[in-house]
Amino acid sequence: PRPGVVMTVRSPNIVSAAPILTKLQRDCATPLPVLRQVADAMAADMRAGLEADSGSDLKMILSYVDVLPTGNEKGLFYALDLGGTNFRVLRVQLGGKEERVIATEFEQVSIPQELMFGTSEELFDFIASGLAKFAQKEAGKFHLPQGRTRELGFTFSFPVKQTSIDSGILIKWTKGFAVSGTAGKDVVACLNEAMKRQGLDMRVSALVNDTVGTLAGARYWDDEVMVAVILGTGTNACYVERLDAIPKLHSPNSASGRTIVNTEWGAFSTGLPLTEFDREMDAESINPGEQIFEKTISGMYLGEIVRRVLLRMAKDARLFGDSVPEKLQMPFSLRTPDMCAMQQDTSKDFEVVGSILYDMAGIDSNLCTRKIVIDVCDTIAKRGGRLAGAGIVGILQKLENDSKGVIFGKRTVVAMDGGLYEHYPQYRSYLQDSVTELLGPEISKNIVIEHSKDGSGIGAALLAATNSMYEH
Ligand code: BGC
Ligand code: MG
Repeated sequence: PRPGVVMTVRSPNIVSAAPILTKLQRDCATPLPVLRQVADAMAADMRAGLEADSGSDLKMILSYVDVLPTGNEKGLFYALDLGGTNFRVLRVQLGGKEERVIATEFEQVSIPQELMFGTSEELFDFIASGLAKFAQKEAGKFHLPQGRTRELGFTFSFPVKQTSIDSGILIKWTKGFAVSGTAGKDVVACLNEAMKRQGLDMRVSALVNDTVGTLAGARYWDDEVMVAVILGTGTNACYVERLDAIPKLHSPNSASGRTIVNTEWGAFSTGLPLTEFDREMDAESINPGEQIFEKTISGMYLGEIVRRVLLRMAKDARLFGDSVPEKLQMPFSLRTPDMCAMQQDTSKDFEVVGSILYDMAGIDSNLCTRKIVIDVCDTIAKRGGRLAGAGIVGILQKLENDSKGVIFGKRTVVAMDGGLYEHYPQYRSYLQDSVTELLGPEISKNIVIEHSKDGSGIGAALLAATNSMYEH
């Protein structure tokens, strides 16, 4: 170059990664018309699932929970929560309307990886032994009247075809579980047999999905809770439905005229903006063709989608230099918490992003590549959060259309739980934006999304109380 002429040098990797990013952003775009289509499709698929069991991607499972906690529940109850990476045991002493929750105590145990791929007996033995150890330590403010059997609410966060409040058959595993010999079986029977092997005497009074537990737990404090959503490793939603709006229910009988329906919306798939990366991830997953909404919006998968995009950029655009980082080729090596941490980086040179990429796959990055990585993370988080918001609006819209004014005309609460929602601020605000855009400023003022942390444990214990065999 001649002296005095300033050349702008663009690093070659940026030039060629940019079109991949642009295409990704286009494929993942969720402008208002797309959100609206997704919300409408969610409502339509819900209706189809309420007509007939096999009528829709959405199973719309009857929970057999027709009586919600009132606050009058009394006594000692246990809960067991099996759903993702951990299982949790809990006891709660309930004191009725005045005293409410007198005491709670819980323990959390992480599930050894190999048990997720083992046999049903191994998994349930592990759980029952954890529960037995926990039950032995009962003391202090916890009190069981003489001669009574301990009662348990069992939160089992997988699709279960309930056959009653205290029995149900596992339809399939999700969230990376591939335990043999459970699908098609009654999971309460599996737990009972394992408890027997442990010499533990407890009665499962309620079998509930985590969404149902969350709804019950939140409803205990707030009468206006109508919907519960989980956004964690996996995702799902349930809501309070009128019995006369469930055509597939042939002999509706419940004192309240209502019941909780577990949508299993993770299986939703209509009209989603998907990319080649999603399709490849799905094809290589242990449950191809299943849980498409879950694979697009939930914590188990967001980081993995990002990894696949970055791998493509490394291969086709030399994003990380001449060689493709080996660890980047390993499925699930980039986890959603890493992706989230990178998006929280506010330092000038994105040093946090740099060190996460280095720790994860020995990647040396410069400022330009770090910015691209953040843009990829943001694109995937944005699509996920906005689609989750559209799903919530779909449920609310369905209820509102059934009885005008009941949802949009007054305060309505959506109880929310799960680590993805709790720990990922950008995701959370994309979700809220989407709800606000879809409903408009006036109506969205009435819709309150409330974080109900670990509500499903207490919720399950409350449902054990509601369905107790004793007069408390
Ligand atoms: C399961 C649901 C569960 C959700 C959240 C999904 O994979 O199918 O039953 O509620 O994860 O834990
Ligand atoms: Mg859970």
